[in-house]
Amino acid sequence: MRTKNLLPSIAGIALVALAGFTAVDYMQPSLWEAKADSMGVEVIFTNDHRNCGAVNDLLGGCFDAATPNVIYVLPDMGPEVTQGVVLHELAHVEQWRNEEPLDECLADTRAREWGSTVSLYDDCLDNMVVDLVK
Ligand SMILES: [Zn+2]
Repeated sequence: MRTKNLLPSIAGIALVALAGFTAVDYMQPSLWEAKADSMGVEVIFTNDHRNCGAVNDLLGGCFDAATPNVIYVLPDMGPEVTQGVVLHELAHVEQWRNEEPLDECLADTRAREWGSTVSLYDDCLDNMVVDLVK
């Protein structure tokens, strides 16, 4: 009886050890995952009608005030752009929660403060300087 149970448990330990070893990299949340989690925001990857950015002007994401704790992000943009788009949309969530205008340039600025390395609104760079000086 004892020996019968011993084998599966050894295999179980080996599996756990293997999973623990490989899970280190995969289980580490990315910057945007950690930020979304900390804000209690669900990130949905979709290009359907819920993603107003993708549907309307081919940008990668959407914050919809009708679902203020969810953001919609285009799939398959690559890690760096995905991070930038998610952080940008999270900045809109923050603007919404603070009852501030949903400002694209300021959302980009905020996203970069949080670690975004992409600028979604290059033509805002001048405006951002003005906004920051005000
Ligand atoms: Zn935006």
